[in-house]
Amino acid sequence: MQTGWATDPEVRFAGASGGVLSALLVHILDSGDVEAVVQVAADPDNPISNRTMIGKKRADILAAAGSRYAPSDPLAEIQELLATGRRYAFVGKPCDVAALRALADERREIAATFPIMISFFCAGVPSETGGRAVLQALQASPADISRFRYRGQGWPGRATATLRNGSERSMSYHDSWGGILSKHVQHRCKICADGTGKAADIVCADAWDCDASGYPVFDEADGVSLIVTRTKLGDRLLNEAIAADSIATKHFRIERLAEIQPGQRERRRALFARLLALRLAGCPVPRYRGLRIARAALQNPARRNLKNFLGMLRRVIRQRLSYRG
Ligand SMILES: Cc1cc2nc3c(=O)[nH]c(=O)nc-3n(C[C@H](O)[C@H](O)[C@H](O)COP(=O)(O)OP(=O)(O)OC[C@H]3O[C@@H](n4cnc5c(N)ncnc54)[C@H](O)[C@@H]3O)c2cc1C
Repeated sequence: MQTGWATDPEVRFAGASGGVLSALLVHILDSGDVEAVVQVAADPDNPISNRTMIGKKRADILAAAGSRYAPSDPLAEIQELLATGRRYAFVGKPCDVAALRALADERREIAATFPIMISFFCAGVPSETGGRAVLQALQASPADISRFRYRGQGWPGRATATLRNGSERSMSYHDSWGGILSKHVQHRCKICADGTGKAADIVCADAWDCDASGYPVFDEADGVSLIVTRTKLGDRLLNEAIAADSIATKHFRIERLAEIQPGQRERRRALFARLLALRLAGCPVPRYRGLRIARAALQNPARRNLKNFLGMLRRVIRQRLSYRG
């Protein structure tokens, strides 16, 4: 693990954090490791939602930089991409990459077509209702806007709607993610065991600074990404990008990880109690292997586990009652 940023100031500014992920993609394209990149960017027809795009040059990568806190489906077209005979770097949520890696382990042509898999830490994806709620808070309607970014253009960057008349309305990351979007995270994400991209070659995240009490601070600053290389290939790609002066890095003390990513630590610890509640309520649950979720739950006080258990049970009951109503 290291922290780092894109040495190209434009890429660093456009990125969600330090633009490392985008700088790496530009480098991989330039070096010929792949011919194109599978990425997610704003849907021009509905700028709060996403569409998958194929990036072939720096301008495409820049256009897709930044985090999109709305549903995305970068796997939807992999069958068509197989038929092109090209080699792609794939960027997706941890769940997308876990699925693609599992498929690549089974099918050699998938591994050959998508030789590089990149992800980011993910606290869960808000439904599109979240994006609409941000727009409403900005007193703009979906029909009024020509562009929308959830963050980026600074670190963390503001959620910004560009209206058709060219004016902008924006709110801070603290207000958009903390106050609105995080409340719209989908159920499937609340029972996700891996928000840290365990199946990817390289994963990026926010390397937040912390205040005196150890909590992340979201004051605007020059972006810094946390970079986790998880495979030999990931290591090689990062080292080559550093050698080519595309990315600058700094040492990171791994003990700081839990401090700057409290959400990721809590999600793993909460999972056992949440799954237990779902099982008792007769709901289907995913089967997770090798992720030590029972051991993670033991790191939580019993009171916290009980709270997570009851919280999930309450949500199931509320949902069933609303279906009946
Ligand atoms: C839903 C969501 C939740 C996140 N939760 C956390 C978290 O808990 N902790 C944390 O540290 N970081 C989280 N991040 C990641 C963080 O916001 C940055 O993406 C990360 O720090 C990398 O920054 P960067 O500047 O290096 O990447 P950039 O250079 O900005 O590149 C971002 C890349 O991610 C792709 N992308 C953006 N949104 C999506 C999407 N919805 N689906 C698929 N691909 C997408 C873009 O196409 C682009 O290639 C989250 C991001 C998302 C989208």
